[in-house]
Amino acid sequence: PADADPLDPGAKPGFVRVRGAREHNLKNVDVDIPRDALVVFTGVSGSGKSSLAFSTLYAEAQRRYLESVSPYARRLFHQMSVPDVDAIDGLPPAVALQQQRGSPTARSSVGSVTTLSNLLRMLYSRAGDYPAGQPHLEAEAFSANTPEGACPTCHGLGRVHEVTEDSMVPDPSLTIRERAVAAWPTAWGGQNLRDILITLGIDVDTPWRDLPQQTRDWILFTDEQPEVPVYPGFTASEVKEAIRRKLEPNYMGTFSSARRHVLHSFATTQSAMMKKRAASFMVSSACPTCAGKRLRREALSVTFEGLDIADMGRLPIKRFAAIFGAYADDGSDRLARLRQTRPETALVITRIAADLCKRLAVLLDLGLGYLTLERSTPTLSPGELQRLRLATQVVSSLFGVVYVMDEPSAGLHPADTQALLRALDGLKAVGNSLFVVEHDQDVVRHADWIVDVGPAAGEGGGTILYSGPPEGLRRVAASQTARHLFADAGDGRARTRRDPQGWLRLAGVTRNNLNDLDCAFPLGVMTTVTGISGSGKSSLVSQALVELVAQALGAPVIVEGEPADAEAMLEQEPEAATQGRIEGGLGGIRRLIQVDQKPIGRTPRSNLATYTGLLDHVRALFAATPEARRRHYDAGRFSFNVAKGRCPRCEGEGFVMVELLFLPSVYAPCPLCHGTRYNAETLEITYRGKTIAGVLDLTVEAAWDFFADVATIRRSLKVLREVGLNYLRLGQPATEFSGGEAQRIKLATELQRAQKGGALYVLDEPTTGLHPSDVERLVAQLDALVAAGNTVVVVDHDMSVAAASDWVIDIGPGAGDEGGRVVASGAPRLVANTPDSRTAIHLRRCLD
Ligand code: ADP
Ligand code: ADP
Ligand code: ZN
Ligand code: ZN
Repeated sequence: PADADPLDPGAKPGFVRVRGAREHNLKNVDVDIPRDALVVFTGVSGSGKSSLAFSTLYAEAQRRYLESVSPYARRLFHQMSVPDVDAIDGLPPAVALQQQRGSPTARSSVGSVTTLSNLLRMLYSRAGDYPAGQPHLEAEAFSANTPEGACPTCHGLGRVHEVTEDSMVPDPSLTIRERAVAAWPTAWGGQNLRDILITLGIDVDTPWRDLPQQTRDWILFTDEQPEVPVYPGFTASEVKEAIRRKLEPNYMGTFSSARRHVLHSFATTQSAMMKKRAASFMVSSACPTCAGKRLRREALSVTFEGLDIADMGRLPIKRFAAIFGAYADDGSDRLARLRQTRPETALVITRIAADLCKRLAVLLDLGLGYLTLERSTPTLSPGELQRLRLATQVVSSLFGVVYVMDEPSAGLHPADTQALLRALDGLKAVGNSLFVVEHDQDVVRHADWIVDVGPAAGEGGGTILYSGPPEGLRRVAASQTARHLFADAGDGRARTRRDPQGWLRLAGVTRNNLNDLDCAFPLGVMTTVTGISGSGKSSLVSQALVELVAQALGAPVIVEGEPADAEAMLEQEPEAATQGRIEGGLGGIRRLIQVDQKPIGRTPRSNLATYTGLLDHVRALFAATPEARRRHYDAGRFSFNVAKGRCPRCEGEGFVMVELLFLPSVYAPCPLCHGTRYNAETLEITYRGKTIAGVLDLTVEAAWDFFADVATIRRSLKVLREVGLNYLRLGQPATEFSGGEAQRIKLATELQRAQKGGALYVLDEPTTGLHPSDVERLVAQLDALVAAGNTVVVVDHDMSVAAASDWVIDIGPGAGDEGGRVVASGAPRLVANTPDSRTAIHLRRCLD
């Protein structure tokens, strides 16, 4: 550059200087990025934005930080992947605010993520109202995560899990031979237990309900584990005779009660399926001791404003803020009275209340006032969680760091974007740098500097198209971002709208903030449900609509994704079932498909090829090669989930878990198989010159050519390309997918099934993580589904999606108890002209 220092041509004051970045698809790029500025990384999905912002800049900052902390961490760190880059200069310490991939533990809550719970506990400890004679408690005594605080009955979970006769024996008219004890293992394990009972003289051919209660209780609940001789296939009298004649038994079998079996499998199994099965025989109920409040009685007897700390955690933070606002405000009457009677307490309360209010103000500003402190983080959307973390940073008074963020606008209604920009500006004003990966046009326009990565995804991307102030991007012809950023208007107006073919009428819906709501969804068209964050869109669509339709169809919902986590299943309050009914229109719907953004899997064991079923075909090809046939390697050999073919060290994960002291553990490539997942013998088999690991390393695009003549494989690849995922590698672990990618993979998997029409597709925020040009592609896909005779209902904030829909239903007007109503329902144009709708003005921008 012209302004470079002649002695050090690279040094540009106030810039982070990156040279030779090659992480993932980055093509040995050089780029200078200003500090103390809002820098937005743009580009189509898969172009390399995250590879630059997170995998290079953040990873390098973290590496330097680790080097400075402890030799122990450094030693472990060498197993982590060091970014592939020649040099980075001028890089401040970095803090990453990433969208959660994979679910955080059920024990973390809004209160703990924001640290508001700590303050609240301090307040109750120091300034709460104690019953006469009760000594003051330490702050820890108000936390369910400490032994001092946790309710002794439920250990702070608030719920107790038990097995009951009903839960383990769902049909008591069956005999034991007919598997009355459903909770016992299926297959051999169950037969074994039955044979043991025969030896023990129990009648396995009497209906369960006719057995004596004492016998039933023993079978289900005993802790005894008698070991007895087993003679499979013998009747009770034959067994008796055999024992009398001291006949050699087949083997000695050990009895285990159904309760023992269920609790043991739940606690120890490695398999998610087994765990889920065990959980299904357990019943969970509110803890009788603490009534679900998780704390010891002593802690719950302390109140503030008449509420115990658990009640306080159940207030929307907007209400909570009002309570403490009165105390933070120095002139309040309440405080004046308190100063007279308890001056020290008054001082403590003012201090804590002021701190609470400062933190709460940011949360309210970011549109999160409808949340409660108690709300567990797994029930939040990734966008909500990231904004919570952002709010925490805004008040943390760190400076001189770079915040690296992943689409902070996710889940945010355009009406709330200004608040987000204020929060970002606030972080910048106190001397921080912001590196933000973002697609939202309002955020992009607000940037001081844009780094546009592209031009396409994967191999077709990885170069820096532009780095400079936003206006200059206008001249970059190759940039997809420029095309959208500087386009005059959306293309929404040009579309021909389809008319509803009928109506699916929901009535009396009560769920979360929806109260006795009636709502009709048009059939045979594409509908977008809009509304500010917390207005009730997900409650209406992803919960009520999905559950009521599933119930009515009498078939379980097809959720494209992993079965719910068994732990989470039990730890959460059972969702209060949706109340409501369907009053008509169900005739046109034969199937319900929900395509969500939940991660596809939480371990690297699941990947693109396994998830889409493509790997099955690939394995068959490898097993059919002459060398594999000679060695008798079957298709199972080429699965990294089966012992014979996989690497013994990492057991086919390709990665090993590295526990870092004080830091979240990380996955590092397996030192034995170098991440290939397979053992050496398996890798000796090649198909058209590639090993199975080599095939898994292909991108979708490369595989398209490689398997040009294999129709089955091409079918899967075709739809992956259509949803814009041609840049992903077949073996890319599910843990690396963003929520948006996961959703598109699910969509592709669904699309490759036969299209018969008559299906209802439900998608929640499918545009998260998508560049405007990817959004166009997604809309085209959804359009194709409608054209094939299906109905599509989408929850989204992206106004271009709403504008491109046939119908819009706007929920609101506000969040939480100020929302939950249908503000407008009609063609986009009609909603855009509805005075009370907070969506209207933003939708109009896309239509005019
Ligand atoms: P963006 O952030 O622009 O959507 P990414 O930086 O995530 O794009 O991805 C750029 C390319 O790198 C893509 O082809 C993606 O599949 C690949 N990629 C992403 N993460 C990894 C990883 N951990 N290992 C290998 N390749 C990756
Ligand atoms: P949106 O999808 O419009 O952002 P939601 O339907 O997620 O809104 O939320 C509507 C209201 O219901 C909010 O007040 C929210 O806090 C509450 N809510 C949503 N999900 C849950 C849940 N799992 N548990 C408790 N409250 C919830
Ligand atoms: Zn309890
Ligand atoms: Zn290995």
